[in-house]
Amino acid sequence: MHSSNSDRTVEDDDRQPATRRIRRLALQLNPPPARLDSRFAGVLEMISCAARAKLSVSTGRLSHYMRGKHRDIQERVFEYFNSRPDLQTPVEISKDDHRELCMRQLLGLVWEAGIRPFRYVVEEPGKYFAIAEAVGSVDMSLGIKMGVQFSLWGGSVLNLGTKKHRDKYYEGIDNMDYPGCFAMTELHHGSNVQGLQTVATFDPLTDEFIIDTPNDGAIKWWIGNAAVHGKFATVFAKLMLPTHDTKGTSDMGVHAFIVPIRDLTTHQTLPGIEIHDCGHKVGLNGVDNGALRFCSVRIPRDNLLNRFGDVSKDGKYTSSLPSINKRFAAMLGELVGGRVGLAYSSVGVLKIAVTIAIRYSLLRQQFGPPRQPEISILDYQSQQHKLMPMLASTYAFHFATLALVEKYSEMKKSHDDQVVGDVHALSAGLKAYVTSYTAKSLSTCRESCGGHGYAAVNRFGSLRNDHDIFQTFEGDNTVLLQQYRTSRLLQGVTVRLRKHSKNLGNFGAWNRCLNHLLTLAESHIESVILAKFIEAVENCADQSTRAALKLVCDLYALDRIWNDIGTYRNVDYVAPNKAKAIHKLTEYLCFQVRNIARELVDALDLPDHVTRAPIGMQSTAEAYSQYTQYVGF
Ligand SMILES: Cc1cc2nc3c(=O)[nH]c(=O)nc-3n(C[C@H](O)[C@H](O)[C@H](O)COP(=O)(O)OP(=O)(O)OC[C@H]3O[C@@H](n4cnc5c(N)ncnc54)[C@H](O)[C@@H]3O)c2cc1C
Repeated sequence: MHSSNSDRTVEDDDRQPATRRIRRLALQLNPPPARLDSRFAGVLEMISCAARAKLSVSTGRLSHYMRGKHRDIQERVFEYFNSRPDLQTPVEISKDDHRELCMRQLLGLVWEAGIRPFRYVVEEPGKYFAIAEAVGSVDMSLGIKMGVQFSLWGGSVLNLGTKKHRDKYYEGIDNMDYPGCFAMTELHHGSNVQGLQTVATFDPLTDEFIIDTPNDGAIKWWIGNAAVHGKFATVFAKLMLPTHDTKGTSDMGVHAFIVPIRDLTTHQTLPGIEIHDCGHKVGLNGVDNGALRFCSVRIPRDNLLNRFGDVSKDGKYTSSLPSINKRFAAMLGELVGGRVGLAYSSVGVLKIAVTIAIRYSLLRQQFGPPRQPEISILDYQSQQHKLMPMLASTYAFHFATLALVEKYSEMKKSHDDQVVGDVHALSAGLKAYVTSYTAKSLSTCRESCGGHGYAAVNRFGSLRNDHDIFQTFEGDNTVLLQQYRTSRLLQGVTVRLRKHSKNLGNFGAWNRCLNHLLTLAESHIESVILAKFIEAVENCADQSTRAALKLVCDLYALDRIWNDIGTYRNVDYVAPNKAKAIHKLTEYLCFQVRNIARELVDALDLPDHVTRAPIGMQSTAEAYSQYTQYVGF
């Protein structure tokens, strides 16, 4: 068979990977389009809307397959907050009230609902992240405050400390008697943690460390739980030890220290410590971020979190790790859980936004053919293009972050070097990719719901504002994506790096190729996400559920190819007619997914009080009665 405008055969075309991929994707469509030859575009155009049959999907079975292992504990969280309307965050609330409410929510969770997240931080991380996702969907400030208490403050004690620290602090952290902070960032240094300037100088005479803020740039800044509630802080500071002749000090690199900041009984700020409020923020105003300055604050030697390095009474330093860089990497490596949690919770936010936007788009009707009823706005191709690839990505990210959590749990048990490396790279890549995607999608979802998307009660504003910073904390996304430094550098960039390093040095060459490297990192993480999605499709035993997932997975894959079509075209990897076919096929898959959009959204299984946006209700009657009730009709 010959194509009309070239002498290439279908067999020739089939040798092209892109063509083979399109063929495979096309054959997996249900029902298969009439007959696919190399001119997909033409064939697809002939398929009328009426001929596009809908897949049959059981929401129950799909939802069952999607449920993580820890759905039960999430339901306990939902039930608890559902039974306590007084603990639900109102749309209008002042910063101070929000902070107090957030603390009451956290205490309620631990004391009343009896859910103890800290117990799972190390032993069952999957369960911890499931709780974090659920509380974050109640109020994202609550999710972050919980993360500061148990994963950052608590996690630093467990992961960087030793038995003596666990014995002394575990109970108080678990039962909230010891609310605490994680004080790493300074006014002048955030991403560059090795540039921190706070110092902890050992005094052998008193067997104490003296914590100091040497200049304004070293004030600890943005510290969650510091402005109002914290009693302790894990403070990251350069450890200074007296030299042999005791005339000077030597810098042993950044270490972590437990510093009490407020009196346990009176809650007064302790001597030598200044605490300031970081003020009203763009979002997450339920979290009390503050600034800490230390002026010769003395703490016992035991307060050094000494898992990776210790100081003896006579000021000798010991460590199982040979260099400052190795110790620093080991310390940060133990803190990777925060990053895993953010990636996971970001998918939770995307699920909420997608659920609200798609339910609304199914109910909302605007315009239609002449003299016929108006049509649902989800029947507009443009709306499908905004929302269906996003729904597919939500599914893809769901499986990818579940796999990340599994890997992280394995790492916590085995401490195997290979797994540690995998988790480090994967958590950095997924956190950066998923949070950036969710941040963009929140704006698209708001826009997809028109004016009603702008009503605060419909949640997009708070979701967008609260989530925005996910792109920055626990590692800025641009900085994180560079942690593919040693992995899959393609030949092109390797050559460029080599060429530029001659004149610019390694750092300069790196900077010259930075955009290229970031694109590489993104493509790599996209392929990892796709691989996890394909694995989830293949592992699904139920045939119709698998068919639905497969369709969604294909849309995810094709949409990513289409987004990058410029790159493929630039290098002539995809010919113009193939590019057109990819576009057509993406449209076709969007339409197929639209047909089962309600089932797919329902299978995400968010209770109504979690989506809480009136316009995200299941029926028009429900939606508008809730909405007008809120507005006060
Ligand atoms: C609400 C909130 C809560 C927080 N909670 C805490 C907390 O509890 N404890 C704590 O210790 N910290 C906390 N932080 C601080 C947070 O972790 C830092 O803001 C974050 O690490 C980024 O550091 P930075 O602000 O100094 O940004 P910078 O590092 O100054 O980044 C600014 C810009 O420069 C770019 N950039 C920087 N380096 C590079 C590079 N190498 N290559 C390319 N681009 C680069 C970044 O991409 C970014 O766009 C919080 C921050 C906020 C806003």
